[in-house]
Amino acid sequence: MIVLFFGPQGSGKGTQAKIIAEKIGVPHISSGDLLRGVGGPLKLEIESYTNHGKLVPDKLILKILKERIAREDCKGGYILEGFPRNLKQARALNKFVKVDRVIEIAISDEEAIGRISSRVSCSRCGSVYNLVTSPPKKKGICDKDGEKLFVRDDDKEKAIRNRLDTYHKETEAILKLYPYTRINGEQGIVMVTKDILKALGQKYNV
Ligand code: AMP
Repeated sequence: MIVLFFGPQGSGKGTQAKIIAEKIGVPHISSGDLLRGVGGPLKLEIESYTNHGKLVPDKLILKILKERIAREDCKGGYILEGFPRNLKQARALNKFVKVDRVIEIAISDEEAIGRISSRVSCSRCGSVYNLVTSPPKKKGICDKDGEKLFVRDDDKEKAIRNRLDTYHKETEAILKLYPYTRINGEQGIVMVTKDILKALGQKYNV
């Protein structure tokens, strides 16, 4: 089964994609992770986009994705997350993949902003904490190395709103191409998992 996962930043889409992939026994492919895993000379080229919050060129991500899904472990399907990001990528994907199911994990913009803007990061080791759901033991200090925690520029409200606008515009266009199931992402993690499994016609096993 080939499943696409959509959801705005803060929706828990990455967490759910990982849980569901494990439960149904297929690989979880995240385009962001794929790009971060590239080494060698291509790494610098990729970082010239990702480090500035820009999308890498379609041709490049498509090449990397095609190589990944050609691997043996994808024969029985996979969960794809982070791709397609725009209509052009969706059309390209449709030429070589038959998508079985599409899931959108929906949360309101206000909820997304609340969740993301409570994120703080360590300037030294990059650990991420959420002040509401997983705060550091000592306020403002990283548990791992004692460094000060800070709010990343792209976790500030204006930047989040910009990303959400782009998400709504581009994802809504993509979702017109497929029948999809919208899941309420404002519930607890287990409820979201249950709803997704139901939408995929799978049973929930603890
Ligand atoms: P993510 O981990 O999904 O936030 O992705 C991290 C970065 O990788 C993004 O900011 C983009 O620069 C790049 N990226 C991820 N997926 C795609 C994609 N489908 N197309 C182009 N760039 C992507």
